[in-house]
Amino acid sequence: MSSTWHILGAGSLGSLWACRLARAGKAVRLVLRDEQRLAAYEAEGGLTLIEQHQTTQFAIPAQTCEGEGPIHRLLLACKAYDAAPAIARLAPRLAEGAELVLLQNGLGSQDEVAEQAPHARCIFASSTEGAFRERDWQVRFAGQGFNWLGDPGNPGVPEWFGDLSEAGIPAEWSLDILTRLWRKLALNCAINPLTVLYDCQNGGLLGHLPEVDELCVELSTLLRSAGQAQAAENLAEDVQRVIVATAANYSSMYQDVRAGRRTELHYLLGHACNVAARHGQATPGLEHLRQRLVDNLQARNLPSD
Ligand code: NAP
Repeated sequence: MSSTWHILGAGSLGSLWACRLARAGKAVRLVLRDEQRLAAYEAEGGLTLIEQHQTTQFAIPAQTCEGEGPIHRLLLACKAYDAAPAIARLAPRLAEGAELVLLQNGLGSQDEVAEQAPHARCIFASSTEGAFRERDWQVRFAGQGFNWLGDPGNPGVPEWFGDLSEAGIPAEWSLDILTRLWRKLALNCAINPLTVLYDCQNGGLLGHLPEVDELCVELSTLLRSAGQAQAAENLAEDVQRVIVATAANYSSMYQDVRAGRRTELHYLLGHACNVAARHGQATPGLEHLRQRLVDNLQARNLPSD
């Protein structure tokens, strides 16, 4: 099997992973959206990583989805709403037994991807690292964090897992990746939409704790009905801890809205509401929150799905 890391999406996280893997001497190939993006990338001459005060450019080869050659290992580094359409385009190039590492936040996109690539192994990731694009092809590593990777259908550690530590990417193979993703989703549902509605940093929610607590009660019940009792443990306390620890930060959803970008709402709060409906659980607080958020996004002419 080829050991090349194909990386789809040279955005914030995709570039961060690509530069670190390339720096460690791993074979990396970027997969870009179309010929126009490929030409723009080639004119730039590579991806630039800014870490603290060090700026380094990496001349990583790139191609489009329709490029040549089979793909054995792919890091899917686009937003959740782009994941399944991107894999549908790449499907003809996926080798038998290809491994896909899915970096998407939230839940729902992983199943959509698996439907498009039924013969591939889908490895789910949950990342607390932070990166943002200062401009095209230039990424700033903004927050140290950690990555958990796991496969709900197969506990075996992939043979390439050691590449990550060799590249300085902090990561652990997780046997409870779904629990991690659900817990992160619940934290996100309790914090991010309210920061958009109240137009505040995370710490601003200290003035709305009864509302946050009510959401946590519904979310905990939902997690238990979805078979994720462990993800429900001490949720309200953890949400308050995160609000205090990140009081000066703006949530990712807040930042997306402020920048006029589409949010990943459908794979976060939307997923929670959909799973609750599937289990016949009434979640009036979450439903009301979703409706207020949809109205807010529509008033800003942003996609609300
Ligand atoms: P991003 O900066 O918007 O990058 C996404 C990239 O995907 C863009 O470069 C986009 O291309 C590319 N893309 C979309 N569809 C494509 C296609 N069909 N073919 C090729 N490229 C395609 O997003 P991000 O911040 O890295 O986030 C990726 C995921 O990681 C999200 O689910 C996010 O929630 C999660 N995450 C991010 C962070 C972070 O710090 N950034 C932290 C934790 C989790 P164009 O440039 O052409 O638009």
